[in-house]
Amino acid sequence: MKTPYINFELKGIPSSSGIAFGKAVVLLPENIVIDTSNILVEDIEYEKNRFEQACESLSKEVENLIAAVHTDSKNVIDILESNMLILSDPVLKEGIYKRIEELSTAESAIVQEFDEQKALFLSIKDEYLRLRADELEHIKKRLIYILRHKLIDYRINDNSIVVAQNLTPADIVNFHNAGITGIITESGGIVSHVSIMARAYKIPSVIGFKNITSVISDGDVLIVDGFSGSLIVNPNQASIDDYHKKQAKIAEYHKKLGKLKDVECKTLDGFPIKIYTNIDLREDAIASEIAGADGVGLVRSESLIMKSGGMPNLELQEQWYKDLVNITFPKPLTIRGFDIGSDKFSEGLPHQEDNPALGCRGIRFLLLRKDIFRTQIIAVLKASVNKNVKFMLPMISNLQEVLEAKAIIAECKVELDAQGINYDKNMPFGIMVETPAAALTADSLAKEVDFMSIGSNDLTSYTIGADRANDLVSDIFNPLHPAVFRLIKMTAEAAKNNNIPLSMCGELAAYPEAIPLLIGFGIDELSMSPAMVLEAKNIVINTNKRESEIFADEMLSISDSIEFVRRLKG
Ligand code: PEP
Ligand code: MG
Repeated sequence: MKTPYINFELKGIPSSSGIAFGKAVVLLPENIVIDTSNILVEDIEYEKNRFEQACESLSKEVENLIAAVHTDSKNVIDILESNMLILSDPVLKEGIYKRIEELSTAESAIVQEFDEQKALFLSIKDEYLRLRADELEHIKKRLIYILRHKLIDYRINDNSIVVAQNLTPADIVNFHNAGITGIITESGGIVSHVSIMARAYKIPSVIGFKNITSVISDGDVLIVDGFSGSLIVNPNQASIDDYHKKQAKIAEYHKKLGKLKDVECKTLDGFPIKIYTNIDLREDAIASEIAGADGVGLVRSESLIMKSGGMPNLELQEQWYKDLVNITFPKPLTIRGFDIGSDKFSEGLPHQEDNPALGCRGIRFLLLRKDIFRTQIIAVLKASVNKNVKFMLPMISNLQEVLEAKAIIAECKVELDAQGINYDKNMPFGIMVETPAAALTADSLAKEVDFMSIGSNDLTSYTIGADRANDLVSDIFNPLHPAVFRLIKMTAEAAKNNNIPLSMCGELAAYPEAIPLLIGFGIDELSMSPAMVLEAKNIVINTNKRESEIFADEMLSISDSIEFVRRLKG
């Protein structure tokens, strides 16, 4: 049924530019708001079956994890094994069956039964049983997640605009393959993974519409304006004509940009600037080549974990890295160590945390799970024979992590030497500067590495203390904040003093208003989604570096973030 609104305009946060026309496909909210209405008697077996299949799928997932865990940590194995026990617990199963027989859906039965058991454990003052309650909550969520994803039919029609509370990176990949034209979500920040992927796929997207899934109905005609953040519901002919004209103008602009592909990327006063890309998938590496980028500045290698549905083994990683290397050769390809945890692929991890953004992510996870780290280093080294691979590590916050990682890389090299395996003995090793701690100590970190790359997305989060993925603080999360720029300046000075290259691979690197300032600070490598390369190049070739240096100095004296943005955009 259509909503009664005609030509109704709503305003959200633009997160991926472009204009999309299409029909709404509304997805169920992701949080555990479960349909509590009764099922029909004839659907009892069907619902039991769905529950069984979800259990089976989760058991397989945990089994795979157990098989992939090469660790001495008994805790990790214990947790995984106790997950298996919960999944095969006959009392839990009986309880869920009984509730389905009383006409609950599988989801509703799971939530009721797990919550009842959890309450029981929590009522007893025993630390062990409390832990078990946490595990129950985790497994409950996983089962609902699996059921929900089985519910999503990705084979939707072309010209559909997906309207959802939130989407996972896997949803975006599947919907992109199905040919959707636009995305509307209730939550998600502009540098959340979902927004980054929407931009990479050039899917116009607007986020931050509270309760939109209860306002829009399936089949509503929508126009998504990913430039201004407007969403027009059931537009009239005048609006449709208006947006068609805007689309034609954009196409014209893109045609002009296309001509820049072979133009040398240097500032008006002749300073060369390299433009690299951030990639998640093989297709992105191809898109990077098509856009004429100078190489790949960031391979988000954790996307392979998502793609392969679990921790990829050595062979799979080696094959994937080699493929990317071959597409990019002879240009450089910078592979980042798995940045697992926080907003990225925490589903299915053996550990659970209350505050994952401040927890065991990036290098911290890799140093905890050295088996996984070593396997990745060996795969990267094996892919480096053509000498165009660089390796860098995420979430560095102290020198010790860098030294420990270097020692492990050295051990892996010895291992390969002993086997007579060829690799690039001088493969450049770098770090991401994405915590204030790394920026503030960049002078000493720079002495230990071959290059640094500023991750402005996380650097903004940690500097301002606002989660990049939390829409409640999306107006506070502001990469154009003077504090962020002062840390960037410090990092740039450390790189210069130590004579090592510095790039920026956060989203800020593609902000048109930020590019001259970054060049003024001395950053001469910018890495971004392939979709942004030509637009960024257009800014670079119209920027004067010497003038930008003077402007950058002036900007450093501004402390007020509103004044900072006003001057930058003015
Ligand atoms: C960043 O934090 O800026 C970055 C490039 O890394 P990611 O977005 O993958 O966390
Ligand atoms: Mg980051």
